[in-house]
Amino acid sequence: MEKKPFVTLEQVQEIVKQYPTPFHIYDEKGIRENARKLKKAFSWNKGFQEYFAVKATPNPYLMKILKEEGIGADCSSYTELLLAERIGLKGKEIMFSSNVTPEEDFRLAAQMGAVINFDDITHIDFYEKIAPFPETMCCRYNPGGDFKIHNQIMDSPQDAKYGMTRSHMKEAFLKLKEKGVKHFGIHSFLASNTVTNDYYPTLAKLLFETAVELQKETGVHIAFINLSGGVGVPYLPEQESNDIMVIGEGVRKAFEEVLVPAGMGDIAIFTELGRFMLAPYGHLIAKAIHEKHTYKEYIGLDACAVDLMRPAMYRAYHHITVLGKEDMPCDYVYDVTGGLCENNDKFAIDRKLPKIEIGDYLALHDTGAHGFSMGYNYNGKLRSAELLLKENGEVKMIRRAETPEDYFATLDFSGLEEK
Ligand SMILES: *Cc1c(COP(=O)(O)O)cnc(C)c1O
Repeated sequence: MEKKPFVTLEQVQEIVKQYPTPFHIYDEKGIRENARKLKKAFSWNKGFQEYFAVKATPNPYLMKILKEEGIGADCSSYTELLLAERIGLKGKEIMFSSNVTPEEDFRLAAQMGAVINFDDITHIDFYEKIAPFPETMCCRYNPGGDFKIHNQIMDSPQDAKYGMTRSHMKEAFLKLKEKGVKHFGIHSFLASNTVTNDYYPTLAKLLFETAVELQKETGVHIAFINLSGGVGVPYLPEQESNDIMVIGEGVRKAFEEVLVPAGMGDIAIFTELGRFMLAPYGHLIAKAIHEKHTYKEYIGLDACAVDLMRPAMYRAYHHITVLGKEDMPCDYVYDVTGGLCENNDKFAIDRKLPKIEIGDYLALHDTGAHGFSMGYNYNGKLRSAELLLKENGEVKMIRRAETPEDYFATLDFSGLEEK
């Protein structure tokens, strides 16, 4: 499918008068439409709830838009919990997924009344010293082995640091039941960025069957199944997008096949999507500031890997549109790079693009999740601004760009003064 940016050259030329490149920009209309579609796809389930994975895009303005669409937050750290609190999310609107979690994070999650998801059986004793057990708790399951869909290996849970073994799940449920926990959740995240409509239904079936077994073995009330994240987006233009309606229907089928006959039709389905909620609705906009003709043809941008780490870290593909040249033939081949002193700072390698001139604006696609949030300050590079393209076409700054003062904010130079 052809990838079209949600902003035009003319819009960007207008925006840069106020907010210079590089910046991340998000599309409110796309975000809301997609959120509504997700809810519709799971409307058959009475307790359905999406908890947006905050780590994907921890911006309160975007979280607020999602909140207005009825979406909660999935947090994994102290500051993510604070962010959720600051936008007015409360108690069970927040999921707290533990993973090598410090005491103070558990304490805050407990104080806020968030639903706590234990990553390991040892967390029960760890937590007991910190806070009382609430009535509802969740445990993260790792089935081990390879996770396959239609005999194709999607990922290898046996190598993942997350979750409890099957026997630990049973032991944890029994132990928590003894501590007074009344309602239980089962959580699992077995494959990331899946571009197939079969991931959630396959995972759901596995978790539903496990829920039925665990219920029989322990006698506890299982209140929800958390399918977590992992529904992906087509980063490549030739990939076909997931159809969330088909995914929701697939989960419904497994629900009716497994849970309803077991008398467990009251179970709520939870999701913790990050990438699927926001990735396609964000662009990193950057300007071509250098060209270089050596052993290869290079275009250098004013953005670099600190603005978007995925290509450097995973060699991930992010589609690039040269704004205003959408209809020109891609008859040039470039490496598109940033300015870090790291040779992996390349947004694209051997990419076919139209001829790029200095001053051209480039839109990097699908940067709305795991984009800005993975930013860092290597080489003294500063984090960019984040902008919101509102439904009415206005542009609002939702995070200013860093300044050198921000970079120095944690330093105290007075200790260096000569005596
Ligand atoms: C990262 C993460 C998610 C979101 O994953 P996506 O691939 O962005 O959907 C959800 N839940 C947990 C616990 C995570 O760590």
